[in-house]
Amino acid sequence: MGSNVKLISDTDAQIAKTLILKRVRIETATPKLPSPLLTASGTLDFASLVLVEIESHCGVNGQSYLFSPNKELLPAIAHAVSVAFDAVKGRSCSPELNTDFLLDKFKLFGGTGILTMAFAAIDMATWDLLGNALHKPLYQLLGGSNKDIPSYESSGLSIGPLSQVLSQAQDFVSKGNTRMKVRLGYETIDQELNLIRDLKDYFGGGIEIMVDYNQGLSVEQAFDRCRALDDMDLLWIEEPILADMLEASAKLTTAIRTPIQIGENLWSLTEFERALNLRSSNYLMPDVAKIGGATQWLRAADKAAMKGVKVSSHLYPEISAHLLASIQNAHYLEYADWTKLQFSGHIAPSQNGYRLTDAWGVGFNEKSC
Ligand SMILES: [Mg+2]
Repeated sequence: MGSNVKLISDTDAQIAKTLILKRVRIETATPKLPSPLLTASGTLDFASLVLVEIESHCGVNGQSYLFSPNKELLPAIAHAVSVAFDAVKGRSCSPELNTDFLLDKFKLFGGTGILTMAFAAIDMATWDLLGNALHKPLYQLLGGSNKDIPSYESSGLSIGPLSQVLSQAQDFVSKGNTRMKVRLGYETIDQELNLIRDLKDYFGGGIEIMVDYNQGLSVEQAFDRCRALDDMDLLWIEEPILADMLEASAKLTTAIRTPIQIGENLWSLTEFERALNLRSSNYLMPDVAKIGGATQWLRAADKAAMKGVKVSSHLYPEISAHLLASIQNAHYLEYADWTKLQFSGHIAPSQNGYRLTDAWGVGFNEKSC
């Protein structure tokens, strides 16, 4: 199923049609995380990545990557990207047409999971390729004009002792990044309340906090804990319960004054629309890989805009910044430093903002223009 949202100008779309997808290179990498992440639903020490580079018939390249919480799945993800590329090889570099083509071609297998991420890798790399071919940063190709995206720090702040959380928060604040996400899922609610109070007291109220349970609570626990947190002036409470429990999430959203945030585990436009229609949360933060690529992310953001819902990104800061720069209902960019050592063009935020450069495409490499 396509969508009527027009993402690029007719002129650029015509040029895109003249570029032909020729080959793909796929590698895997597992850079160590600058700070290991301990969440309510698991620990991460490495960023397990599938690196994708596609090439057009005239030698223009486009890059993307996929992140996997499980290193063991990298070969399967890489193989799925190869299968998806084989299906679009020889077609034009039109990400919207190719996304719809892939969704249709693999309908019998069914969407979601590794295959959807593979489609996303092709889609994201094609958008990068188009930016490189047209000599435009992606956000400009998408009609955006604002290079400064409000962001929050999400690198670290794992479940752990107060001293560890405080030390990381101090590091963020020293760079002017006073907006940050704290992982919750401690044994008792008192531990969580004390942690947030101590953090706020330490910085004299000069920081803004959102919290993330990473789906770690039962519905009953979620009502108890979210109610207890309701007076803590949090920016949002993220994924308190299992991501696909959209009806229960809607009840929680109605019952709690603090905004509820979900979206990183919505695997299709249909699921995203379901969450919107059920009012399963106050805000949404689709993941550009899990939703099926930049094309699907932008279509989802448009659907959210029609319902007056603000959209944030989930991970993938390099491409997500461009997407947020090109929509009207942008909320915050989630910044994690996991790919800092992987791409020379990686940008770190300062003063609670992420500033895009004029590098062509996504700008993975410093000298792409
Ligand atoms: Mg999260």
